[in-house]
Formats: sequence, C-alpha cells, structure tokens
Amino acid sequence: MKNVTIVVPCYNEEKNIDNLYERLKDIIHSLADYKFHILFVNDGSKDNTLNKMQNLRELDPNVSYLSLSRNFGKENAMLAGLDFAEGEAVILIDADLQDPPELIPQMIEEWEKGYDDVYARRRSRAGETWFKKASAHWYYRILQKFADIDIPADVGDFRLLDRQAVDALCSLRERQRYTKGLFSWIGYNKKELLFDREPRAAGNSKMNFLKLFGLAVDGITSFSVAPLRLASILGIIISSVAFMYLVFVVVKTLLFGDPVAGYPSMISIILFMGGIQLIVLGIIGEYVGRIFNEAKHRPDYLVSEYNGKKILRGKK
Ligand code: UDP
Ligand code: MG
Repeated sequence: MKNVTIVVPCYNEEKNIDNLYERLKDIIHSLADYKFHILFVNDGSKDNTLNKMQNLRELDPNVSYLSLSRNFGKENAMLAGLDFAEGEAVILIDADLQDPPELIPQMIEEWEKGYDDVYARRRSRAGETWFKKASAHWYYRILQKFADIDIPADVGDFRLLDRQAVDALCSLRERQRYTKGLFSWIGYNKKELLFDREPRAAGNSKMNFLKLFGLAVDGITSFSVAPLRLASILGIIISSVAFMYLVFVVVKTLLFGDPVAGYPSMISIILFMGGIQLIVLGIIGEYVGRIFNEAKHRPDYLVSEYNGKKILRGKK
C-alpha cells in the first residue's frame, strides 16, 4: 500500500479544522487502496487550533501535528510540513476549505499515470473582492514577463507532489520563500486540474494587502533580476536625455548669454531625478535585503512540538 500524507498549514483555523477533517475522512475512506496520513502544521495560532489538532490526534492515530514556535507564515509552515511528511506522495491543502478535498481522488489518479506534480487551477474565485481578482490577474501577467520561469496564473498551493518533487522542494532552503515559483523551478512532470474555488468556510483570510504585496515583491525578486536591468536602462535613457539638454543649454548660453532664469525647470528636474533615484535605490534595496536575510542563515522555522513531543536539535 502506498502512503500519502496530506499537509495542512493552519493559522487560527479553530473553526475549520474539524470540518476539514470530516471531509478528508470521507475522501480517505473512498480511496481504500492507499494509506493516508494527515499532518496539521500549527503556524503559531493564537486560538484553539492546537487543541483541536491534539484532540484529533487522540481520536485518530493517522493524524499528526507539528506546532511551530511562532507564526512563520504560510510558506514556511508548508516547508515544515513537507520536511516532516512521509510517504510516496504529499498533498498540500489549505485549512479553510477553499480547496475542495473532493479533488484528491483525481489527483491520485493522475499521479498513478506518472505525473509528479498534479496542481489545481482555479476556474473561478467565489467570494473574493473585485480588487483581489484584478490585482491577481495583473500580477501574474507582470510576473510572467519578468521571471525567467513560467509560473501559471490562478494556481495556488493545492497540489499533489510525488516524493521526488517533495525532496527537491525540501532541498531548496532559501529564506523569503516564494513557493509558487519554486514549484515551477523544480520542474518534473506537471498536470493541471481545474476546480472552482469556494469562499472561505469560516474565519478571515490572513492575507492582507501588505502581505500580498510583500509576497508579490518576493516573487519577482527571487526569480528575476529584471528590475535591476530596468534600473540600468532607465539610467541610460535619462542620462542621454540629460546630455542632450546639457548641450542645448550650453549652446544657448554661448549664443544668447545667461539671464538668470529657469527656476521652474530646475526644481522640476531636481524633484523628478530625486524620485527616480529613490525608486532605483528601493529596487537595489530589495535585493540587498534578500542577501541580508540569506546571509544570516537562520532556519526557516522552529518546531516547538511534534505529536506532543519536544524536538531537540535538528529536524526530527
Ligand atoms: N496560513 C498559515 N500561516 C499564515 C497565514 C496563513 O499557515 O501566516 C494558512 C491558513 O491557515 C490557510 C492557508 O494558509 O490554511 C491559506 O491562508 P488564507 O486562507 O488566509 O489565504 P488566502 O486563501 O486568502 O490566500
Ligand atoms: Mg483561504
């Protein structure tokens, strides 16, 4: 019998865990040829999420839970789950029931056909604001233009990964992880399934505008140096224009003298150039910040307990 682990990152999901477990259980029963394990990752929740996990663990020995020492963010919580997941395949699923567990049998079917990464693509996004849909649309467009790898639009983290792909992901220990990009980066045989994304079952999304913006910047800066290139090109264009203007001013002064004037043009040029310089500095800063975070070599997450036991030194 093949072992499959379902990894569920959870941050303040006390209202969803039991429902998710029930729905997963139904699916698991229908797939009797496989041995399923459920691994909940508690990403420093401040509500009763951990208690719920502990209760499920007592009821069902196929449930495990991993509790991180604080909130590390979904990307790191997923990595922790992948590190601890065992079996020939791993399924990543959100705790809020936005990803329908009913898709799992289809994923398994494709996996059996030899695909290593069976991911779910959203056909629709119910219950999401107009702003979120529009910004997501444009973001993927820009990312595809910039990044050197192809990151499909409307694909989340809901997917089945073969053991080989899981090991590949676990070997990429970069900080400020942009998992969506890493899924593409590792390659392997990919298969797409379509589904309709439900609105969140209970609770609120933890992704606010700032977090999404940060993730968006991480996506671009971890897969492309195009913004730096853009800064150089901008510099070349602006200095060429400035040089032509300089020639014009010198010639004009030689021919017609220099009555003191030009305050408005001077102030606009200074302000404009100041703005451009700050933007370019910001772009460089994003990359310097990434180098800084990489150079510290801190672990991506810290575990406080695994199935009720403390973990001392190292992973497991
Ligand atoms: N999540 C997490 N750590 C965080 C934020 C979110 O583990 O810091 C989990 C959350 O519990 C859920 C999944 O990541 O299972 C997706 O989060 P959310 O629904 O808030 O994001 P959205 O669906 O709005 O993109
Ligand atoms: Mg959600």
